[in-house]
Amino acid sequence: MQNYSTDAINIKTYPISEYDNIVVMFSKDMGLIRGVAKGVKRPKSKLGAASQALVANSLVMSQRRNLDIIKEASAINSFNKLRYDLDKLTMAIYTAETINTFCVSENIDNDQNEAIYNLLYKTLDNIQNAQNKTQILLAEIKFQLAFMNLSGFGIELRRCLKCSKEPKGTVLFSTETGGIACVDCAIDNVSYVKLHEKIREFLIALNETPVDVKTKYDDIVNEKVTNSCFNLLKKYIEITSNKKSKAFKVMEETYVG
Ligand SMILES: [Zn+2]
Repeated sequence: MQNYSTDAINIKTYPISEYDNIVVMFSKDMGLIRGVAKGVKRPKSKLGAASQALVANSLVMSQRRNLDIIKEASAINSFNKLRYDLDKLTMAIYTAETINTFCVSENIDNDQNEAIYNLLYKTLDNIQNAQNKTQILLAEIKFQLAFMNLSGFGIELRRCLKCSKEPKGTVLFSTETGGIACVDCAIDNVSYVKLHEKIREFLIALNETPVDVKTKYDDIVNEKVTNSCFNLLKKYIEITSNKKSKAFKVMEETYVG
């Protein structure tokens, strides 16, 4: 059987037998993949630490008909500083879980795979180096915006979804459509939240700046603002993710059934 190598970040791990685990990973070359970490629960296993969740590894995988086997794993980054802080750990797990529910296995879009891998890596690093709760939330909002852009579900913050004009002042934001509307353009049956001008400017700056570049808001934003933006985007991602999996189900039933 063939071997192949890739860099991958462990998303989660679960047992498959007394000594073996399955590791779900996001790889730079193939997107979501799974591999068996053989003998990982034996005391002297070489794979032990490298197969933990939220570790980035350089891997050698052995291709098998059903589940590939992790032959070698050497840690690139263990993101250790996020393991001793509950807020950081919770956010890192949320990040990994978002990728797990949103991405498809063996995605063939290589540029997208690499961009998502780099985004996940950078986000885990930003979370582990955060100095306070606000910085953790800020790192995560940057992830949420960039991840939705990369997935083709980027949010529209500049133009009204109904009239296409650039509204001024307070606007309405819908977590269902992921876009804004002028106060007068609200569509029936869609629920909105009010988005203050300053909050919109903050989100636009983050949305249009690469995650590894600091914005003018990074040092002045507070926990209240980051917390409400994080929850708003979390809601949008949940709704989009549900729609996506429903659409996928319909497709499966249509084409397979
Ligand atoms: Zn409008």
